[in-house]
Amino acid sequence: MNVLVIGSGGREHALCWALAKSPLVTRLFCAPGNGGIAQVATCIDLDPKDSERVLALVRSEKIDFVVVGPEAPLVIGLVDKLSEKGVKVFGPTAAAAQLEGSKGFTKDLCARHDIPTAAYGRFHDKASALAYLAGQPIPVVIKADGLAAGKGVVIATTRDEAVAAVEDCFAGRFGSAGSEIVIEAFMTGEEASFFAIADGRHVVALGSAQDHKRVFDHDEGPNTGGMGAVAPSPLMTPAMVDEVMARIIRPTVAAMAAEGRPFKGVLYAGLMLTAEGPQLIEYNVRFGDPECQVLLARMQTDLLPVLIAAAEGVLDKLNIEWDPRPAVTVVMATRGYPGDLLPGGEIRGLEAAGAVPGVTVFHAATRAAGDHFVPTGGRVLNVTALGETITAARETAYRAVARIDWPGGFNRTDIALKAIAAAGEG
Ligand code: AMP
Repeated sequence: MNVLVIGSGGREHALCWALAKSPLVTRLFCAPGNGGIAQVATCIDLDPKDSERVLALVRSEKIDFVVVGPEAPLVIGLVDKLSEKGVKVFGPTAAAAQLEGSKGFTKDLCARHDIPTAAYGRFHDKASALAYLAGQPIPVVIKADGLAAGKGVVIATTRDEAVAAVEDCFAGRFGSAGSEIVIEAFMTGEEASFFAIADGRHVVALGSAQDHKRVFDHDEGPNTGGMGAVAPSPLMTPAMVDEVMARIIRPTVAAMAAEGRPFKGVLYAGLMLTAEGPQLIEYNVRFGDPECQVLLARMQTDLLPVLIAAAEGVLDKLNIEWDPRPAVTVVMATRGYPGDLLPGGEIRGLEAAGAVPGVTVFHAATRAAGDHFVPTGGRVLNVTALGETITAARETAYRAVARIDWPGGFNRTDIALKAIAAAGEG
């Protein structure tokens, strides 16, 4: 089969890396791709939100199956446009992608179907939002309804801060994403990410991961897209996985089907493990980045038939095998990230890093330049390793990081330490 992956990040490199191993793949394309993806796929430079260009590429290269990585093209209906033309595609329709595209939609769905999540109110205007806020305990959480690249959430620890957050949203701080807001109760507990794949009716667990959102060691500095990940999360015991599947994931897939928006694709749940049990923080409708890298590093089953089964509604006929070893990924970013980037310079030593046994270096934002690479964005490399323990995977990943010669880059040095402590290792 000829397969096209849409996207250009570390997640898409991991998807391409996994698909390139499939004996079912004849030719692999990625649009737009990056310098690392170009080592395993033919990269085509186009805007993933331009469905006409995507469709033209599908026709000219005789693509049999399309895999959509990022949320933006999903939310604006790339899957709908391709399926209307008879193209086989993995990912949710725009109606199903509302689970990520509108926080209010998801909260209302949870309320209608008794799916555990924080108490909330949903508002279209400032006056009623402020009136509701006045009756809520502090801390309180203010969220822009729409896609805000992970920046549309404020945890307000004072009433003034909460009022300012509401005013900012309606003043357009998050653009149209903030013309509607959700105000929700603050939950306490440990966080975990949980992934499942659904075909509209059936749903299969892909496992858990733990992200590292803050830019600096000890969870300091601003939030980022993610500076590292571990899979599985030691907090997600088999009993917890069963509970999350039974109380959150399966009811969501059933609810979406019952409401005429069957969900096909990757369902990524942000969870708060509270004293009252797991609660949904939010859904994403695609693989996380960098969580995808650690999940796929552990997947032993050929990825392509899994994605096709999800697209065709026959996931119940499939069994996915996993490497029992945990995986750790360390993100290397351009200095200055997540603020203004400094000049990135040259990246060398990637082959030496990839030669460390158990290591794969995924590229998130690079371009090849002769005998080296140059960074083309904030998060640039995801150095991913498997190990017998989380400690071993972590040490291996950092051994590979040490082989990368990139003065313009930086990384956190404490990725996976919390997971190691939670797992009781060492
Ligand atoms: P979200 O984009 O909805 O995942 O929110 C981003 C982050 O804000 C989450 O990963 C949590 O750390 C935090 N957060 C969101 N909602 C809540 C909540 N209701 N209570 C406590 N923390 C929250």
